[in-house]
Amino acid sequence: MPAWTRSRVSLPNDRGFDRCRLDSRRPGLRVVVFGGTHGDETEGVLAANRLAGADLALMSGVLEVVPIVHEAAYFNDTRISPLDGRDLARTFPGDPAGTPTQQLAHALHTQILAGADLLIDLHTAGSYLDIPYLTGYIDDGRDKKGLGERAAKAFGADFIWRHETRAPGRTLSDMDAAIYTEAPLPGPTDAAFADRYYDGVLRVLAELGMLDRSAAPKPEKPSRRIVSGGDVDKDMQPVGRAGLFIHKVRHGEKVAKGQVLGQVIDVRGAVLEEIRSHYEGWVVVLKRRPHVKPGDQVVGVAVADTRL
Ligand SMILES: [Zn+2]
Repeated sequence: MPAWTRSRVSLPNDRGFDRCRLDSRRPGLRVVVFGGTHGDETEGVLAANRLAGADLALMSGVLEVVPIVHEAAYFNDTRISPLDGRDLARTFPGDPAGTPTQQLAHALHTQILAGADLLIDLHTAGSYLDIPYLTGYIDDGRDKKGLGERAAKAFGADFIWRHETRAPGRTLSDMDAAIYTEAPLPGPTDAAFADRYYDGVLRVLAELGMLDRSAAPKPEKPSRRIVSGGDVDKDMQPVGRAGLFIHKVRHGEKVAKGQVLGQVIDVRGAVLEEIRSHYEGWVVVLKRRPHVKPGDQVVGVAVADTRL
């Protein structure tokens, strides 16, 4: 059975990341798994570390795991870097002469992602957003082999979210083929979800012929396929009033066109504004924190993916 090797990619001032590599010594794909791109999302880190120590009978290609991609943020328990305030997942492809997070993105871009066939970036929704258990992939024509779609399907999450456009700066946007995961985990680490992520990665490796199918557990239930722009920085529905945002739906819930998704209330409880769905679809993103000001993005709905 192939054995893992672990090495350190060093950056100035003791920064950098560990790279774990399992080489089948047979031709095939190079698949990269990231945990901890956002430092406050722990389940992906647990799953990636479990993967990097697992006895896997890799049949082809190379599996590479960076178990904690953004160490400065992880060890500070924050989404962004305490060194420069940057969000690594908005910093690609980085800059070798830039800030610490820009240097990190550049090192990941040039030393890990360049030439890789598929990235699996293990995120969770964290404390600011509420997102159902899903895998997302970009479908803008660059992924000629359709590896992102195959991987997203194989992972086995509740939703498969197709994005027709590519948002700038994302870890994913650095790759022709990539998937990311999300799950509704606001903070207390959920070890069961780390196991789900681990199993999902094994299913992707089996789908790509890198593991025997018997090594990958069956998915818990069929996935629902949805589509939207889905850039959480700009594609969600905004509020027009300041106040407290009150959820009227849950993550993953099916909603009708015109259905009230949430309200903005004042401190006496008076309703200042209702946010209604533009579409029939499923709630894929909700702002978790209640305080809002005009223009804040609070809820996203994706529609059924009929291009199948
Ligand atoms: Zn994240």
